[in-house]
Amino acid sequence: MGIPFNSLKAQTAPFENDLREAFERVMGRGWYLMGPEVDAFENELAHWLSRDHAITVGNGTDALILALRALGVGNGDEVILPAHTALPCYHAVLATGGVPVFAEVDEATYTLAPASVERMLSQKTKAVMAVHLYGQSCDMDPIAELCRANGVALLEDCAQSHGATYKDRLAGQIGDAAAFSFYPTKNLGALGDGGAICCADAELDQRIRLLKQYGEASRYESVTAGGNSRMDEMQAAFLRIRLGRLATENAQRRDIAAIYDTQLAGTPVITPHEREDCTHVYHLYVIRAPRREELIQYLREREIGTGIHYPIPGHKQKLFVDGTAPCRTDDLALTEKMAGEILSLPIFPGMDHDDVRTVCDAIKAFYAQ
Ligand SMILES: *Cc1c(COP(=O)(O)O)cnc(C)c1O
Repeated sequence: MGIPFNSLKAQTAPFENDLREAFERVMGRGWYLMGPEVDAFENELAHWLSRDHAITVGNGTDALILALRALGVGNGDEVILPAHTALPCYHAVLATGGVPVFAEVDEATYTLAPASVERMLSQKTKAVMAVHLYGQSCDMDPIAELCRANGVALLEDCAQSHGATYKDRLAGQIGDAAAFSFYPTKNLGALGDGGAICCADAELDQRIRLLKQYGEASRYESVTAGGNSRMDEMQAAFLRIRLGRLATENAQRRDIAAIYDTQLAGTPVITPHEREDCTHVYHLYVIRAPRREELIQYLREREIGTGIHYPIPGHKQKLFVDGTAPCRTDDLALTEKMAGEILSLPIFPGMDHDDVRTVCDAIKAFYAQ
């Protein structure tokens, strides 16, 4: 592939030696779970986000599930979330026994629309999942106010938004809890699976810690039903290095986005909109493109990789359409229209700026035909 959609090799190349040293350190210690690296990473993550508690878990989906359960979501409870989002969001709700309630997104930012949240609130609403999609925060003030006024828990999904800001606050600082994924492609990516939940409340922290490991209050003493979702020492050691580089890597993503913004201005594509009171960290650079399928094919012929995030909105997934799983939906005309237009262009730390321009030239040439 000439210009890949993403390259994890290119991303880790500048600090491969640091990663090897971390591997040697953990290996030398011979201690692989519930050890000093996880403790240190939890402290460093909590400090970075200025929240009192950070709990590491096995992956981002578990972070959502455990946070929802700890916030009291269970059988038949409704959770409002955008229909335009990644699959794990609604599967996390289903895993708690809850019912996903699909809300509409905002036309400019593709994040959860506060007006739709308000429309979908009901007596059964237990939580709102605000997904900071593509690297930009939802409009949190009105969403938080709706949650407060209605006694509903607010969970932030920060899986795509490590380091994004909303009015001088970091994504993850506003909700009752914030869930993170460290899946390798995320802005803060591990070399495998990982996740975390951050929160301000000590009781919530304790509930999550019980749920993540056998309901264990003290060694071999179980007080509630729980499972097993742990981050391992290797991933924690790798993530400590990556957390220290996050600001630099996010700046690299923003530089690439700025080139796209400039070069694609004046073409028929709609480029991402960054709210003036927000910092977008461009986990993905998503345009809306006329004649999308033809454009994908044109770029593929020139060995340029692209992606679609996401082609099928939540409420259109088979399990909801055929009634296998329950859901409720707002009018989702915009979500449905967008699913046919969105296109993710290559963006990753370490991407050559000449390659960014090559992608832009190809898009311009396509529309000039
Ligand atoms: C990646 C992602 C998740 C889930 O993370 P995993 O670590 O893959 O389980 C959840 N929500 C969003 C928005 C994501 O992008």
